[in-house]
Order: sequence, then C-alpha cells, then structure tokens
Amino acid sequence: MVARLVSAPFTRFLYQKWKGFSREVSSRELVRRARGAATVMTALTPPSAVKRVLLVVAMEQEVRPLVQRFGLEQIQPSPFLRGAPFVAWMGEVEGLVLHVVWCGRDPRFGNVNNVATTAASVCLYAAVAAFGAPDLCISAGTAGGFASSGARVGDVYLSSKCVFHSRRIPDAAGHLEEYGFGHYRSPPLGKLASHIGVKTGVVSTSDSLDAVPMDLELMRSEGTSIKEMEAAAVAWVCQTLSVPFVALKSVTDIVDGPRATREEFEANLEAASLVLQVKTDALLRAVAGTLLAQWANDGSRTAPAAPAAPAAPAAPAAPAAPAARRATDGTDGTTTTATNNSAPPPAAEAPRAIPTVVDSSSSSVAMSIGPDGQSFEVLRV
Ligand code: SAH
Repeated sequence: MVARLVSAPFTRFLYQKWKGFSREVSSRELVRRARGAATVMTALTPPSAVKRVLLVVAMEQEVRPLVQRFGLEQIQPSPFLRGAPFVAWMGEVEGLVLHVVWCGRDPRFGNVNNVATTAASVCLYAAVAAFGAPDLCISAGTAGGFASSGARVGDVYLSSKCVFHSRRIPDAAGHLEEYGFGHYRSPPLGKLASHIGVKTGVVSTSDSLDAVPMDLELMRSEGTSIKEMEAAAVAWVCQTLSVPFVALKSVTDIVDGPRATREEFEANLEAASLVLQVKTDALLRAVAGTLLAQWANDGSRTAPAAPAAPAAPAAPAAPAAPAARRATDGTDGTTTTATNNSAPPPAAEAPRAIPTVVDSSSSSVAMSIGPDGQSFEVLRV
C-alpha cells in the first residue's frame, strides 16, 4: 500500500541518498571478487552425481502436494531438537534419496506457517545436521513475479542467483553493502530449465510480503524476476556449508501488477503449488544420477528483451541499474525463457514432454494434471 502512495522520483531520491553512503569499488577489489566468484563456481557444480536431494518448504499448502506425489514417509520421532517445529519426510525418486523439510507452524499466532528467512535457514541447517549434506538443496515454494521481466502467474522459475533486497547496510568499504545483498549464485542450469520447461532469473528475498519503494528499487537494480521470503536465507546456509543450491519458485502473484498481493496470492496458492509439484517431479527425475555440470547453459541460452513493463500502480519507474552492483558479482541478471522442447537432456533417458499451456492476460490460474501424472494444463481464469 505504501508503494502505491509514494512517487517514483521520491523513491529514486531515497535510493540515491542510500547509495551515497557507499563508495566506488576499486579495480583491485573487483579482481578479488572475480577470483572469489570463480572459486564459488567450482563449488557450485561438484564432480559427483546427484544422489541425495534436500527440499526446504515454508508452507504446508506447498509441501502437501510434494509429500503426496512422491509418497514420502514422515520421519518419526522427529530428528530435530525438542521444541523445533520442523517436519521432515523421506522417500526415493528415480534412485534419489529425497528429504523434504517443512518449517512447521507457530502456535503463538494462530498456527500460521513459519514463513520467511529465520525459520527457513534454521530448518535447513537442522536438516543438514540431521541427515548430512545433500548433493543438491532446493528452496521450493511460491513467489511473486515481475511482469516487467516476463513473469506470469503459473510460471515456474529456477534461480540464477539469490539476493536479499531489504538488508541495507551501507559502509565506507562497500563490503557490508554487498554482504547485505548476498549474491548467492546458483549452479548454471539453463539446460535443465529448458528441459523441464521453467524460466530462470534472479530471486530476491526479504521478510515481507509487501515491498516498500526502496525494496522495489533494489530489486530492479538486481534485475529481479522473482520476489519471495526464504531463498536467499537458505542459499546463505548452503554456501556456508558448500552445498549446491537452487530455488524453484512457482508464481502466485504479480508484484508489479494491478491486483493486491495477498488476495492474488491466496487465489492462486493451490494451483501454483500443483504446478510446483509437477516441476519438482520433472527436475528430480532429470537430475537423478547426473552431474549438475551437465545441465549448465549450452550456448543456446537466449535472453529475450523483457517486454515493456505495463504501467502498474505498485511499480515505480525503473531507473538505470547501478552499474557497480552488476559488475561486482559476475552475473548479468538476465532472464532466460525456457521452452519445453529445446535442448535434449544429458541423461540417456528420452526427454519427457511436459506440455505447459501458457497464455494470458489474466492473473488467476487453475491446474489440471493429466492421468499420467506428468502432463498438465495451466488454465487461466
Ligand atoms: N498467508 C500465508 C503466509 C503467506 S507469506 C499463511 O497464512 O501462512 C507468503 C509466502 O509465499 C512466503 O513463503 C513467500 O516466500 C511466498 N510469496 C508468494 N508471493 C510472494 C510475494 N509477492 N512476496 C513475497 N513472498 C511471496
């Protein structure tokens, strides 16, 4: 609501004022960061096949379809410390050992889901401590999407990197400022995105469902496609523990669209969770037993020009992105549009066709999954 009341020039003023605290980044610092990024890239795609995957999910509405689809067994007694609200399931998918953890509920506030960063990061840490480090960790859930970067309700995204947009820590050296953003890179998985029919983009995290003008400004400066409340927190834990990490997010609402976020989110939560279920299944079957490096971008990566942003009340006009930020983390922030029938998978198995019906000016979706459990239609209503 605040976003709707504050003008774009005022937002720019706030942003410039905030940026004014930080300094220009020296070329030596840029080289140091580039070296760091190269080291991180090696850790992103370890030379061992994916045999164990850990999914962390914030909401019961998101996790139930996954538990059901994969026939998972709840791990009992709870593997977590007494009092921890987290719930864990385990199963097997295509030879993969799959652990799924849900952040549970908070009885102090009407048993709401433990959404947002604190619960997600502690839950993931506790799960790794209990089950050991997986070959891949996925923050799976629903999210807001930016129409200005091509997102539509019912789309699913894989993260190219995750950032925080509400950790503003200006400092003279610029280290804390960039630490605040985080810049957690996901393995390059463009071929995987094409294979399973999802898009890729920057995922931006904060503890709020809404966004104040400066949040929107910072998300734009990072080329954000997806806004949600857990991914970067989980990514930080994964980076710290050297666990490859990617976010898989299904769009419930359009951040720079005309509908109120909560209303749109609630209207689409069930359908988007079903789309998430189908894409999670496709992802797990694809990566099972493969090297993540096999799913890197293959040169066919396309970065279509984002369609012009429709005039939307919640979105202030985007200024030019701050050049320093793009230059320091080594990513280009582009969004890759995936198709269902492009690159073949590296695994021996034939690619599975997952038809996705996408078209729409409308912002509500319904899902219909075919009798094979794989094909589905996203119906825009
Ligand atoms: N109504 C819910 C809480 C929703 S919080 C309840 O009662 O439990 C929103 C959740 O969906 C978070 O887990 C967040 O990651 C995701 N999400 C969906 N759309 C979002 C958006 N536009 N901004 C931020 N998070 C969003």
